[in-house]
Amino acid sequence: MMIIVSACLAGVHCRYDGNAKPCEAVIRLVAEGKAIPVCPEQLGGLTTPRQSSEIVNGRVWMRDGTDVTGAFTRGAQEAINLARLAGATSAILKARSPSCGVGRVYDGTFTGRLIPGDGIFAALCRENGLSVKTEEDL
Ligand code: SF4
Repeated sequence: MMIIVSACLAGVHCRYDGNAKPCEAVIRLVAEGKAIPVCPEQLGGLTTPRQSSEIVNGRVWMRDGTDVTGAFTRGAQEAINLARLAGATSAILKARSPSCGVGRVYDGTFTGRLIPGDGIFAALCRENGLSVKTEEDL
């Protein structure tokens, strides 16, 4: 079964800081044709690099106070469309990201504190019946 994965884990330089977070197990899955990489933030039209963002009460804010909820939501929808097209039933997503984080995300104060919750794309994956985990669960 096809797996959807965070593109930064597959080595794509799509993170807010212009870097990747390569994960050997994820790269192997993509190379074997078992996984498809997506970056919901880029799919939502955000630039790379970009300011970091965090979630507060369901809305997403950049560090400078710009509300980027619309871009995050559009990108998550585009990414789930690709997941559906590929027949994906599960996702391996970057831990703690405001898009991809599973079970734990930053608390919106940009101080590194974590709270229970999912990123915008991870939540949409769950709503659409995909099982979700992070690279740290592999
Ligand atoms: Fe990686 Fe997801 Fe952030 Fe894109 S949105 S850089 S795939 S964690």
